[in-house]
Amino acid sequence: MTLSGKVALVTGGSKGIGLGIAEALADAGAAVVITARGREALDLAAAALAKRGADVRAIPADVTDREQVKALRQEATQAFGRVDILVNNAGTSYVAPLLMADDEKWWAVVETNLRSTYLCTKTFLRDMVRAKSGRVINISSISGQLGAAFNGCYAASKAAVDGFTRSTALEVAASGVTVNAVCPGYVRTDLAQQTMGARARMFGMTADAYLDKLESEVPRHQLTSAEEVASAVVYLASPAAAAITGQTLNVCGGTALG
Ligand code: NDP
Repeated sequence: MTLSGKVALVTGGSKGIGLGIAEALADAGAAVVITARGREALDLAAAALAKRGADVRAIPADVTDREQVKALRQEATQAFGRVDILVNNAGTSYVAPLLMADDEKWWAVVETNLRSTYLCTKTFLRDMVRAKSGRVINISSISGQLGAAFNGCYAASKAAVDGFTRSTALEVAASGVTVNAVCPGYVRTDLAQQTMGARARMFGMTADAYLDKLESEVPRHQLTSAEEVASAVVYLASPAAAAITGQTLNVCGGTALG
């Protein structure tokens, strides 16, 4: 129970990788706040977390909205006194060839993936710096390093998250707060299913067949699981990782070796 007495907040914690992270943080002893826009999925996730013994609060919020993020901080702080570990996990994607891309949809991906990370970090970092302790962990993607055809908005947003991670880490390093990114390879979630479904259609394949093909191309011949991403997050949140800051940790079975 390396995180006993700590309070974690996971954005996009209602399903997929975010829920896996919330479970692992709770299993390591942290109290957990999960947030997402959809109330029903959020409540179901909170009930599942409580069932496995977690001290959990579900607070709905759109993390691209400054006022809602402010309210989220207030509610989370009221519930648990502070937030020690912020996991910026909420994310989305849009698949289209650049020359046919809809401007609004393209930029909406950047808004969700980058703006939410910026807003939440800015909102929760002040308390961490004052406390001279804290962890910010951004869920990025190997796409930010490798690029992603027909998914440039996603790759660009994640590359920006990586740059934001390094810059913020440098700014607050002397305070004892660490800021890192975890970069997963493909994980079978709703997001991957939608993204791969859209890409697969371009090649006349189903999403599952396309994901199977991608799996065979991973050096270890296995996609990443949400649990594997979550283990990296728990490690970065733990006292053992105090000297690690400004890093991007690839959890991808060897796909991105950089
Ligand atoms: P899912 O679509 O399964 O889950 C996304 C979560 O984010 C949901 O809880 C969703 O809830 C929430 N969310 C989306 N937009 C917002 C918003 N504006 N405000 C609050 N919550 C929001 O995605 P994954 O679990 O696959 O992805 C999680 C993260 O991991 C993302 O950052 C993604 O880019 C990254 N990643 C995923 C990979 C994969 O292959 N799956 C690979 C590499 C990185 P709601 O819609 O109700 O708000």
